Amino acid sequence: QAKNAGRNGLRFFDPLMQAAVSQRAELEADIRQGILYGQFLLYYQPQVNAQGRVFGAEALLRWLHPVRGLVSPGSFIPVAEESGQILTLGSWALETACAQLVEWAKAPHTEPLVLAVNVSSRQFRQQDFADHILAMLDYTGANPRRLKLELTESLLVDNVDDVIAKMTSLRARGVGFSLDDFGTGYSSLSYLKRLPLDQLKIDQSFVQDVLTDPNDAAIARTIVALGNSLGLAVIAEGVETAAQRDFLAQNGCSAYQGYYFSRPLPVDVFEAYLSAQA
Ligand code: C2E
Ligand code: MG
Ligand code: MG
Ligand code: MG
Repeated sequence: QAKNAGRNGLRFFDPLMQAAVSQRAELEADIRQGILYGQFLLYYQPQVNAQGRVFGAEALLRWLHPVRGLVSPGSFIPVAEESGQILTLGSWALETACAQLVEWAKAPHTEPLVLAVNVSSRQFRQQDFADHILAMLDYTGANPRRLKLELTESLLVDNVDDVIAKMTSLRARGVGFSLDDFGTGYSSLSYLKRLPLDQLKIDQSFVQDVLTDPNDAAIARTIVALGNSLGLAVIAEGVETAAQRDFLAQNGCSAYQGYYFSRPLPVDVFEAYLSAQA
């Protein structure tokens, strides 16, 4: 039966394929519901400097699904990317992050934090992306210097001049940029030189075995050196142990994010974490 299907190209009747298609359609409909009923929220993961102080946080999307409970982005962002729903979700995340920055700015006792927000390439590729962000900063009243956008190297398969133009117009207002998952994508060093970046983020896949795999150690060291010589800050993600942190520190990396410091937290728990260290 499978052989026939293959020969005739009647893939539509492949039961496995059909199941996958309907599962995807179901998830897409479910995401639509989730957006409609406000089931998405942001978690905040502390970013820590060499002295162990929190200087910022990364906003990470979560879905509080009525049946499945708390769902991580890995299981819905790929579908949302394909369906285009990432545009709605991403825009919601950015607006929520800006509103959160305004809330934090009202509390005079807290140190000002920089909030990093992930932006998918599809989102960034929109013609009016920069204007959209600038308008959002205006109507929320958030300080652009407190906002950092995390981009990925997949952006660089596009028209790089267009990418640079958008980044430049946002940077003129003070918005910062970090290159997420650095080392896993398509970056060419000549692009890296031209992009108006502030930070490189060492991908967690290199951090994970940094103590046991000499290749990962070499890559981590090289990214730090590259960042330093290009005048960029470097942050390591996925730091889970003190030994990893120490290794990174000894090799010139002075900003960290990972379970060793804290998991991503709901906003009230994140605020309690901040007060506890103050
Ligand atoms: P990312 O931006 O690279 O975020 C880092 C991921 O590593 C997060 O997964 C975080 O929870 C996880 N992580 C942090 N510390 C550790 C650690 O010490 N060990 C390990 N094993 N993992 C750690 P999460 O929250 O599941 O997010 C996954 C990805 O989903 C993110 O990867 C990002 O690409 C995407 N994402 C999350 N929120 C958004 C959003 O608002 N918009 C867009 N476009 N993408 C988002
Ligand atoms: Mg990120
Ligand atoms: Mg990352
Ligand atoms: Mg990652």
